[in-house]
Amino acid sequence: MTANDMKLVVVGAAGRMGQALIRVIHETDGVTLHAAVQREGSPFIGKDAGELAGVGTLGVPVTADPLQAFLDAEGVLDFTTPATSVAFSILAAQARIVHVIGTTGCSIEDEEKFKAAGRHARLVKSGNMSLGVNLLGVLVAQAAKALPAAGWDIEILEMHHKHKVDAPSGTALLLGEAAARGRGIDLASQSVRVRDGHTGARPTGTIGFATLRGGSVVGDHSVVLAGEGELVTLSHSARDRSIFARGAVAAALWARDKKPGHYSMLDVLGLS
Ligand code: NAD
Repeated sequence: MTANDMKLVVVGAAGRMGQALIRVIHETDGVTLHAAVQREGSPFIGKDAGELAGVGTLGVPVTADPLQAFLDAEGVLDFTTPATSVAFSILAAQARIVHVIGTTGCSIEDEEKFKAAGRHARLVKSGNMSLGVNLLGVLVAQAAKALPAAGWDIEILEMHHKHKVDAPSGTALLLGEAAARGRGIDLASQSVRVRDGHTGARPTGTIGFATLRGGSVVGDHSVVLAGEGELVTLSHSARDRSIFARGAVAAALWARDKKPGHYSMLDVLGLS
């Protein structure tokens, strides 16, 4: 640890991603774990964050007090719930620090609040923080542009572990947005999120989603471009949560000297 290390707070510290973030901060040069926050009433309050994440004692007890945790911090890494991320975005804006948000399942109203927070905080938000998926998004936009909607149908298939609470995944929606961008259409009005019963034939130009849940799958995504007599499949398989945690830490370091704003992983990775 050096004096110039970026001081990061992990909120949702006891969660699957929270623990992965603590491990990655511990092994990454240039960053240090400043505080670890869990929700009020969590059995992990007071426990050492390093022990919780399996990297040994770090001398950082888990707290339920975000105000105290944000004091003197330079960035917040947040993979929690939509309501929690909205609340923390207000605190991060007040503290004028970096807020990296990986939380998925956020509503349009939540996104408006994040945009407002980005007037004061340096906010980086993405449904997927991995280099591979963000590159995949760029490739999907290219493919969707090159293969005309009249002859090529786009379907997005995803599978995640059985504990995941939102669907389609943030990554599936990110890939859907990329496909819609390539096609020059609006995803919200063109997406088919569920099919059940007598649905009729597939409307031309729509983007379909299919969701699978089970076991411990970290995150598998395929974008299928289906033409007459041929299929193009672009896919990504996440084997380990550390890919998202490494991306989040890289995003915090990238945003450290940026102006306040609402950024995405495409900005961080130079893919925008
Ligand atoms: P999880 O349920 O294991 O962890 C969430 C944690 O947040 C829990 O420990 C919970 O107690 C804590 N929490 C909830 N409210 C809180 C509050 N008010 N204050 C402090 N802590 C609070 O879930 P997870 O698998 O770690 O995923 C979390 C989120 O991150 C989900 O939305 C998931 O889809 C998303 N995710 C995003 C990416 C990405 O790259 N963007 C990757 C993986 C997961």
